[in-house]
This record gives sequence, structure tokens and C-alpha cells, in this order.
Amino acid sequence: MTASVSGGGRLPAWDRTPADLRGLGYARDPRHLFGRLQRVATWDASGPVLARPGRTLADRSLCLDLPEIVEARPSADGATRLVLALEDGARIEAVHMPRAVVRPRVTVCLSSQVGCAMGCTFCATARMGLVRNLAAHEIVGQLLAVLHRYGPTSAQKLNLVFMGMGEPLHNVEALVRALDVLCDPAGLAVAPSRITVSTAGHVGGLARLARARWVPELAVSVNGATDAVRRSLMPIGKRWPLAELRAALVAWPRRPHQKFTLEYVLLAGVNDDDESADRLAAWTGDLAHVLNVIPFNAWGGAGSPYREPCSERVDAFVGRLRGHGCLVKVRRSRGRDARAACGTLVAPTPRAASGSVSRS
Ligand code: SF4
Repeated sequence: MTASVSGGGRLPAWDRTPADLRGLGYARDPRHLFGRLQRVATWDASGPVLARPGRTLADRSLCLDLPEIVEARPSADGATRLVLALEDGARIEAVHMPRAVVRPRVTVCLSSQVGCAMGCTFCATARMGLVRNLAAHEIVGQLLAVLHRYGPTSAQKLNLVFMGMGEPLHNVEALVRALDVLCDPAGLAVAPSRITVSTAGHVGGLARLARARWVPELAVSVNGATDAVRRSLMPIGKRWPLAELRAALVAWPRRPHQKFTLEYVLLAGVNDDDESADRLAAWTGDLAHVLNVIPFNAWGGAGSPYREPCSERVDAFVGRLRGHGCLVKVRRSRGRDARAACGTLVAPTPRAASGSVSRS
């Protein structure tokens, strides 16, 4: 473990808001204490430097252990795939992606579950099945461990994307709790507009997240322009068809100028034909959106039933969408040579369960 205080059955510190700390008896200055816990800029090499408040916490009930980074695999494009071990031995993956453009920023891709229950047929993570949900303190601790090792120490240079292992909205209460902590002005203070939650189209979770205090940006995996194609790729489409998904987006409490990110993994011979492009454009209609077309990243070699489309087909598909007025970007996943790309996150973890689709 990275931080200085061992577990020992104490309550985890990382999902405590200032109000919680006050409730636990840290009434003198819980916002200050919360800030010392959450702002890695105030930590030293071994973890949070809490001086007297830290000793008080350790003496009382809070545990400051962080997930441990057990593997770091850099790729040529600057992204680093990280494997983190949780207290029970389960493993998750995060990706650290610095971007040295005009204003240097870092995007950290986070996991929300160990494995995933959604069973998307093109996704490597789906093969693990769902092992378990992450608790809110594990979601926050995952980020703090990454920031402590790799930076940045300021949230002004930070973007967060929940696109790692798991369907975040299948673990929506822990997600909402983590957002409460991460966005709190006394802590890291990450702007909700800098946080993107990626969902396979979990309409039930969308309704809950829409009522959260901090409402993030959304990225929605569409991947099929008809219910039949989408269901064949994403079993969640059986529960929530495209029309219901679209209605949930229409009802979303969108900020002014906010656009939905719609993801479409392009699979050769499956969903990359002209008719699919026409139907997809019709489905998006007047939704404020950016459509990311992601040529399939062949993670599985012989294990994957899908192929990457040729560049001519990608160009034709994208051109057709643009002809319909869609705002389209072609995305190539970062970290491909380190298997840190979209849909490739699999960490060896014990107790892998079956990949059945949850109906929650
Ligand atoms: S694409 Fe996302 S939702 Fe689907 S199985 Fe993979 S991790 Fe789960």
C-alpha cells in the first residue's frame, strides 16, 4: 500500500466528505482536513501529510490505504496502462494519458468495477464477467494513487473519464458518491464538465445520475444503428432499446452548449455499411452531439470475432454521416501498443464470475 496508515478494519478515508468528517467527530475544521486528504499537492513521498489531524485520524477510525500500483506499462504515445491491486487482491486498470499541447493536460481513465457484467461482444473486459463493484473509496483512491505517482497535482490540469473496466452506471451509487468527493470545492475540486462518464446505455443509471449533485458529461456507446444489430453487440440493448436510450438523453439535464459524446465502434462487415450510417444519423437527429467513430481495435487476435475495417470503409462511413450533418471525429484509441486502448482493459484477477447481463 502506498499510504502511511494500514487498514485494520477502520473506515476508509477517501469517500468521506467534509460533512461526514464532521459527523465522525472531526468538527474543528473538517473542510481543512478533507482538503489535506484529497489534495495530493499537499502530500509527501509516502502519502498524505496530515500532521496532527492525521495522527488523530489514524488513532481513531479512518484508514488511509490506497490501491497499490503493481504494474505500469508505458506506450509510445505517452499513455501508461496501470494495474492497481485492491485490498482483497482484485485488480483493476487505469490509464494515465498526458497531452503536451498548448496547455498541458492529463486525462486519467478510471475503472468503476472489477470486470463488467454488460457482456459487449467486442470488448475484452466483458470476458472477465463481473467480479464486483468498486466502492466509492476505491474509485477515489484509484485516482489519488495515480495522481500521487504520475501527477498532475492540480485538478485544473486534469480530465477524468470513466471508461476503464466496468459500466459506471451499473454501480451508480458508488459513482455518485465518488463525484461528491472529487468535485467538492474543498478537495480536488474537479469541475463536473471535466469528468466524462461512459455508459453502454444504462437508462436506469442515467435517471439516477441526472439527479446527482454534480452532473458529469456523458459518453454513450451506440455501436448499432438498429436494435437488432445493437442487441447482437451489446446485450444491454435488450433491456433498453435505442428509442428508450434516446429519450433518456433528451431528458438529461444538459448544460448550455453541452454535447453528448456518442461512441460508435466500427466493426468490419457488422455495422460499417452505408445503411447503418444513414440510420445512425437519423437516430441522432437533433441531439447535441459529437459522434466518435472508433475503428475496432483488434485486442484479442484469434480470440476476437471482429475485424478492424479498412481505411476506405472508415472514410466512406464517416463521409456519409457528415453528409447528413453529423459532427464526426475518428478516434484511434491511445495506448494501443500497451493494450491500454478502449475495450482492451483486462486485469488478471481472482474469482472471475460469469458475464451475465444485469437488469438493475
Ligand atoms: S464495452 Fe464497457 S460496458 Fe461493454 S462490456 Fe466492455 S466495459 Fe462493459
